[in-house]
Parts: sequence; C-alpha cells; structure tokens
Amino acid sequence: MARIICPRCHCEKLYRMSTGKRRCSHCRYDFHPHRLPLYLTRDQWKSIITWFLLEQSSQTIANKTGIERKRVLRALTWIRRALIRDVPAVFSGTVEVDETYVGGRWKNKRTSIREKGTKRGRGTKKQPVFGILCRNGLVWAEIVDNVEAATLQPLITSKVKKGSIVCSDSWRAYTGIASKGFVHRMINHGERVYSDGKGNHINGLEGFWGYLKRKLAAKGGIRREKLFLYLGEYVWRYNHRKESEKVKLKRILELLEKEVGG
Ligand SMILES: [Zn+2]
Repeated sequence: MARIICPRCHCEKLYRMSTGKRRCSHCRYDFHPHRLPLYLTRDQWKSIITWFLLEQSSQTIANKTGIERKRVLRALTWIRRALIRDVPAVFSGTVEVDETYVGGRWKNKRTSIREKGTKRGRGTKKQPVFGILCRNGLVWAEIVDNVEAATLQPLITSKVKKGSIVCSDSWRAYTGIASKGFVHRMINHGERVYSDGKGNHINGLEGFWGYLKRKLAAKGGIRREKLFLYLGEYVWRYNHRKESEKVKLKRILELLEKEVGG
C-alpha cells in the first residue's frame, strides 16, 4: 500500500488505533486508511452520487436508495475524499489569493484543539481558510493553521507558476511575494470589492467565499474536524458548476474507481 498520510493536513506521523483506524498526530483526525471498500454495487454508487450531486442529506439518500444510513455516510466520506484530490494542479496567468474564516457553529467534539486566535480575526473560534482563484474560474482552497506569511507564501509558491500576476489585499502575509518571482498587485483593503478597471481585484475569490459560507451555513453546523471534507466538496462543486449532472456523475465514478485501482 502506498504511504499513508492524513487526508486532512497531510501529516505523515500517524498512530495506529486498535480498530485499524489511524489518528493523525498533528490534527488528531481519525480515518480509515483502506482503499474504497466494495460494499456497494456500481448501481448503488451511482444512485448515491446522483442524490449527493442534488445536495440531499444522508437520511434522504438512505430513504431514496434503501441503503442503510451508516453506509451512506461512509460512502459520502469516500466521495468527498476523492473530490479533494480532484483539484487543479498549478495556477498561472492572473490569480487571486485571499484568506477567510468559516464556521462559528461547530458541533462540539474536541473543541479544545486549535482555538488559538490570530491577529486577524482575533478571538474568533472560526477556522482560517486560504484560497487561490484563477481567472479561468477555477478555485483551490484549504484549511490553514494560521494566516501568516510562513504559512500562506509556501502555498502560493507551490500552487502558482512563477511569473504569474498575483492579486491580493494588503494583509501583511502577502508582503514580499514579488521577491518570490511573482508580479504582485495589491488592492487596498477599503476598496477590495471594487475593481480598479485594470483587472486588479479579488472579486472572484470574494464570490467563492460567499458561495462557500452560504453552503456551510445551510448545513447548520458541522464537526470541525470534518470541515476539510466539506471545503473540498464545495471547491469541487464550484469548479464543476457549469457541467451537467451526467458529466459530474461520470467524473466522480472515475475518481472512485481510480481510488480502488490505486
Ligand atoms: Zn492531520
């Protein structure tokens, strides 16, 4: 089996639990390391994915398909884990970078971890999220421990091709990215929602944050350690929003099969 890493924070140091699950030493996420269990038929997967694409709840999917809710929940986790991996590899051209905070109504389980505030959003119990959006409309976003330069700049360097134009607001973590080989266009905070007419704006990412927050709010509170799965889901839905349900179904089936095949 390939090296196992935490699907949430990519940490490699894992504890093996008596159940066979692994627990991440860094973020404490518990997960099953095995590949896709073939406990559902291809037709069952198809109907679960179809209802998932229509954003139905696990209970509704269980009722519609006649599959036990527990198995539906496991299947949905497999789907979300597959979607996380289906992201654009490298961005180029003109890109927008920005960070935001999501959550606030966590279902409490291990709420004690990572409540450390940052200067921005200080005292907040919300989770910082960092995102990159390319002007072709594709977005990438991941939860981050904090919104400082040491965290955000390596993400920009690894996800954005050198020479690209990077638009950001004036948050201090973005200071100095010009020296990393990018053309940096900074938008003043007060005017960040307006375009200056030269294409220097982060309106695309603002739009995605709005979409993400509406979707998460509609969920009515999720477990904090599961946020990365929902974030991955909504990044994927956003990136594929112009495709038909049929195309999306086919794509997700292929992703899951890839997972089974290794
Ligand atoms: Zn982890």
